[in-house]
Amino acid sequence: MRITVLAGGIGGARFLRGLKAAAPDAEITVVGNTGDDIHLFGLKVCPDLDTLMYTLGGGIHEEQGWGRAEETWSVKGELAAYGVGPSWFGLGDKDFATHIVRTQMLAAGYPLSAVTEALCDRWQPGVRLLPMTDDRVETHVVIDDPDSGERRAVHFQEYWVKLHAAVDAHAIVPVGADGAKPGPGVVEAIREADVVLLPPSNPIVSVGTILAVPGVREAVVATTAPVVGLSPIIGGAPVRGMADKVLEAVGVETSAAAVALHYGARAADRSGAGRAPAERPAGVLDGWLVDSSDAAAVPAVEAAGISCRAVPLWMTDTEATAAMARAALALAEEVRAK
Ligand code: GDP
Ligand code: CA
Repeated sequence: MRITVLAGGIGGARFLRGLKAAAPDAEITVVGNTGDDIHLFGLKVCPDLDTLMYTLGGGIHEEQGWGRAEETWSVKGELAAYGVGPSWFGLGDKDFATHIVRTQMLAAGYPLSAVTEALCDRWQPGVRLLPMTDDRVETHVVIDDPDSGERRAVHFQEYWVKLHAAVDAHAIVPVGADGAKPGPGVVEAIREADVVLLPPSNPIVSVGTILAVPGVREAVVATTAPVVGLSPIIGGAPVRGMADKVLEAVGVETSAAAVALHYGARAADRSGAGRAPAERPAGVLDGWLVDSSDAAAVPAVEAAGISCRAVPLWMTDTEATAAMARAALALAEEVRAK
């Protein structure tokens, strides 16, 4: 079975660990978000790709969910001694090595997809990890500057890591997405999959950014595979992180049902009946899982044409997460049989 997953960082990575346990014989392809990528200290940093690679390859700092286990911080201290920032982005010594290798390969002319493959050669994540694009895409967030009060766009990392999403976001803009091409193998992996899964990743700045690359949403809409997603929102709040802030910025309520409706039903668009108005992008979901505590959301999601089930969605350990993955695959089979 070929399973393709569109993933952000922590939520995507943890889900994939469960999926690997649930479907050990499956060929899993992961399309990773690169909208969070940032240039720091002359180096290209890919936070979501690295979280996926370190988590699945056994090098992640477990509690933190990003960066390396048993990290040291000598370089960071030395940079600070030179007065060179930013100090708000945590790059440890081991992590620095990854970014040095990546930047060196990019400078030598290799595309990000080839660099990612080379890095994964060391980490052996057990999945094929594809950047959503080899082109530069950067998610920016429009805010009112907390100091000057002026409206300006900041890099997503500045909004998330430096400002802790504590100021209101007025808009989320995947800068460069319009002109980006899907990375090698991305469209094929979606179109030729047996199942496509949207893990409980951030629906706006992770999965939304991947879908913003022209050709990717179209591939999800057109694939013959069932497409099933899992809610990152439980009981009206993100399980971890600040997804509510970016949902608010795009006018989507922080609830499991609202996120499903934001993704939209795929079936209606494929048949042509009930086609979304031209200004609304085509939907991507056949099925949606909400947490057991959100069972009351099921009828609203089903009324929108998306098959919906309520199951436990807390990724507390690999076994609980594997059960979520099995539920997603079971729903995919149900949808396929329809
Ligand atoms: P990021 O790029 O590191 O922010 O990670 P993702 O975009 O892949 O995932 C972030 C999302 O994961 C957040 O919106 C969380 O709500 C969600 N999340 C984290 N842990 C869990 C969990 O145990 N269960 C569910 N359902 N969602 C989770
Ligand atoms: Ca991310």
